Amino acid sequence: MPLLHASATAKTFRPATFAVIIAIHVLALSAIFTYSWQGLVAFLVMGFATGCLGITLCYHRMLSHKSFKAHPWVKNFLMLCGVLTLEGDPNWWVANHRLHHKEADRDLDPHSPLVSLPWSHMLWLFFANPKLEKDCIKSKLIPDLVNDPVAKFFEKAFLPINLAFPVLLYGLGYLIGGPKIALSLLCWGGFFRIVWVWHITWCVNSVTHIWGYTNYKVRDESLNLWWVGILAFGEGWHNNHHAFPATARNGHKWWEFDPTYGIIALLKTVGLASDIVPLPIAKATATVTAMPLDEPRAIANN
Ligand SMILES: [Zn+2]
Ligand SMILES: [Zn+2]
Repeated sequence: MPLLHASATAKTFRPATFAVIIAIHVLALSAIFTYSWQGLVAFLVMGFATGCLGITLCYHRMLSHKSFKAHPWVKNFLMLCGVLTLEGDPNWWVANHRLHHKEADRDLDPHSPLVSLPWSHMLWLFFANPKLEKDCIKSKLIPDLVNDPVAKFFEKAFLPINLAFPVLLYGLGYLIGGPKIALSLLCWGGFFRIVWVWHITWCVNSVTHIWGYTNYKVRDESLNLWWVGILAFGEGWHNNHHAFPATARNGHKWWEFDPTYGIIALLKTVGLASDIVPLPIAKATATVTAMPLDEPRAIANN
């Protein structure tokens, strides 16, 4: 298998993205020398806030698939959590993800592992996708977000927010315990946590299209992988998700752990979420092919 996508050479290399991703990986190594229990707490809190609330709940299930609606202030907070993952602004992330579902494991898929595992995991990020650079394509993929004022704000404020946040973390650590704790919070709640959340998200793009089992026959290579299911707060049930992308619930068997769905149900109970898209009851009779984005396109394996 080639390391790079066959068309990667025709794509524009993004040196700034490459430099930032490599630099943050190097900075994350400092976690070895800066451990403290306060740093560990910062890692766990920020890992949950950005990985689960920001990416899984917000960017993925709420924005990309519209599987539920959240109270406006909850939505704003969740989008901020997503921005702090440094995985791109909401519009960029959602456009890529919708293109992935539309073209899964075909030529226009931004990150198919059928090209190569490293490509699907992270190499694709180093190249601008001409398919997504055109505004007309973008507005076709994300017509609901291109004019959303909050999404527009976060698109513009993405860089300032991500430059200010490390300063905030350092300052908070300094107030708690001086320069040593400040560095610990910066490394554990910042650099190391960012790298951790990156790789968990990237695993959903890469390994869950390579290893695992199926509950449904779908037209792509998506699979359910238990350890990604656990680490990615329910996103590892990727065959279930590709079969029923619009539904809020990714775990379809009782043992398919899906804490993100639990949070959506909890938000609904306290009146902060509505319009939750359920798992279709007639899923076993759903058809297999030629389904448009966000429509069921699967048939149960059993
Ligand atoms: Zn996928
Ligand atoms: Zn999806």
